[in-house]
Amino acid sequence: MKKFYWSAPRRSVCPIIPIFLPFRGCPARCVYCAQHTQTGQGPMPFQDILDKAGTVLRARALAGLPPPELAFYGGTFTSMPEKEQRQCLDLADSALQRGLICSFRCSTRPDSVDIPALTRLRDAGCSTVELGVQSFTDAALTAARRGYDGAAAAAACNLVKQAGLNLGVQLLPGMPGVSPEVFICDVSAALRMGADMLRFYPCLVLAGTELAREWRAGGYRPWDMEVCLASLAQGCLMAMAHKTPVIRMGLAPEAALDGEVLAGPVHPALGERVMARALLMAVLQEADGGRLFALDAPLRCQGYFWGHRGELRAAWAALGLGSDEVRFVEGEEVRLYL
Ligand code: SF4
Repeated sequence: MKKFYWSAPRRSVCPIIPIFLPFRGCPARCVYCAQHTQTGQGPMPFQDILDKAGTVLRARALAGLPPPELAFYGGTFTSMPEKEQRQCLDLADSALQRGLICSFRCSTRPDSVDIPALTRLRDAGCSTVELGVQSFTDAALTAARRGYDGAAAAAACNLVKQAGLNLGVQLLPGMPGVSPEVFICDVSAALRMGADMLRFYPCLVLAGTELAREWRAGGYRPWDMEVCLASLAQGCLMAMAHKTPVIRMGLAPEAALDGEVLAGPVHPALGERVMARALLMAVLQEADGGRLFALDAPLRCQGYFWGHRGELRAAWAALGLGSDEVRFVEGEEVRLYL
């Protein structure tokens, strides 16, 4: 019998309430980015966005819900005009003082952080800065016209850690220039930089973006679903080995996305499909070419074990496992009976 732990690293217990500030502070529109579609939030006056967030927080508290973590997403927080940053920090500070939130975080670009900005965030009670790194690889960053190189991305990660903030690293597998091999190097780099959490957003071709024009002209081909699932599964296994949570895989479902994804690996159950493949990969590695006569897996894998609509049943059968040979049990161990 062989066994290994299958314990997804813990995510924050606090629910995250996002405040989307689409394109606020962004120096330019990145080729793949369509924030209004991704977030489902059209243009709105800045103060209205903050007022709406305040109303949501008060309503949650009145309903007796636990204080969430507030998140400023969708733009480049640290490059927003000073006055807007201050308005956000004032909202977060007042919500913290009144116990309406437990903490807050923001997302920004690697070339938009410096020590004064990070210190200001930390002193205001910010817990986490998520960097839209996308890749640490120079060639990919050039191909996607991100405007910074791998060294700048790594330096930004270091600054966030030095400031005593949690570091989130967002990667964009399949972005122009990011092959599966590059993505694996990017995951490795993010873990080396001390990322406390990762997000994997497979690159999609969204209507109205520069990437859509390149795709139509034949200059860009997104990853197909199988490549995406296999690569993300490998990335997840690397993150699990480091006890680093992958807190998001794929864009959050948004009604505004319907009909706007022109191409690319999109699926509502992407995360579960990836985890199913990651588990299969881990078992295949342990089985080392042999067949199994039974397997015990943790109960919480039951929902995804056989893959979406049983898509992995044939692969498990090739290992000798059908429904009669697999038991879902309490605990966090996978046990292989060889
Ligand atoms: S990817 Fe980030 S920096 Fe680029 S336009 Fe979108 S929100 Fe702004």
